[in-house]
Amino acid sequence: MNTPPLDSKPYDIGTAGSPWSDAEKSQWLARQKKHRLHAQDVLPRIDALRDRFDVIEYGQLDYLEIANAATLGGHYPLLAVRSRSASQLPLVIVTGGVHGYETSGVLGALTFLETEAQFYADHFQLLVIPCVSPWGYETINRWNPNAIDPNRSFGAKGVAAEAQLLKKFVTGLGIEPLAHIDLHETTDTDNSEFRPALAARDGVTNKNWNIPDGFYLVDCSARPQPDFQRAILDSVAQVTHIADADADGKLIGTPLSQPGTIEYPTQKIGLCTGMTKAPYTSTTEVYPDSPKATPAQCTQAQVAAITGGLNYLRNLRSQAR
Ligand SMILES: [Zn+2]
Repeated sequence: MNTPPLDSKPYDIGTAGSPWSDAEKSQWLARQKKHRLHAQDVLPRIDALRDRFDVIEYGQLDYLEIANAATLGGHYPLLAVRSRSASQLPLVIVTGGVHGYETSGVLGALTFLETEAQFYADHFQLLVIPCVSPWGYETINRWNPNAIDPNRSFGAKGVAAEAQLLKKFVTGLGIEPLAHIDLHETTDTDNSEFRPALAARDGVTNKNWNIPDGFYLVDCSARPQPDFQRAILDSVAQVTHIADADADGKLIGTPLSQPGTIEYPTQKIGLCTGMTKAPYTSTTEVYPDSPKATPAQCTQAQVAAITGGLNYLRNLRSQAR
């Protein structure tokens, strides 16, 4: 028997069954607030890496003309950090803050750069984008100001500038990456705010699911790499607990492909890890609202996910030689 869907309060913008018009999107935007500053939290930490890494501005986001721009607007440099590695080494991409509200993704990418990246720069070319969605970081949001989810916007039809500028930059490097690890969280606010808002925006009925207590991964169903996921999970398990499946053997409504892992068609649905043909991809999902995990542990779990994946790839390459 399937678990009945959890109750979800209808979202209080729009009319049930009708997708939002521009007026309703503006109503949503008017409710947002800046809670923190990208220029204060993220940019100084990237600046401090310039002695060891190349920092590349791959674009800018201009949100100075949006409604309530005095409090909600902003102009953001989009920054990537690249190791000064030999050009014949395989490229590994790490992204954080594609969903800006998922704090440990941003902090995990920065902490990895500050503490671990130097130990891998002789094995891989590392390209780390710590905060793909700075406006979402500041307003603790899943969407950009146009009520668009960047992490459904990496496909050919995607319109979120956060996604398309990054994709253009990565494609323009002309290197097919070996791997891409994208750092995310699954939070209680997914059920209380973001999923009800999504259903309201699209004029459909929301069915919430159980938010898993613990860490899990999303692999790509079109190019699954179960051993790569296993290596990441084994590394993260030393820092925080891995989520168990729910009573139906699922995580967020999807059957497990192995413990702690589900698969999505990442390219088809425009996820960040679907932007290249990298043979090894993984999306991390940390649970920051767990009574069993501190914010510091969540950040360390993201770092452990990256190093677990890199150690696996390094071993694979040394065996092949
Ligand atoms: Zn996310």
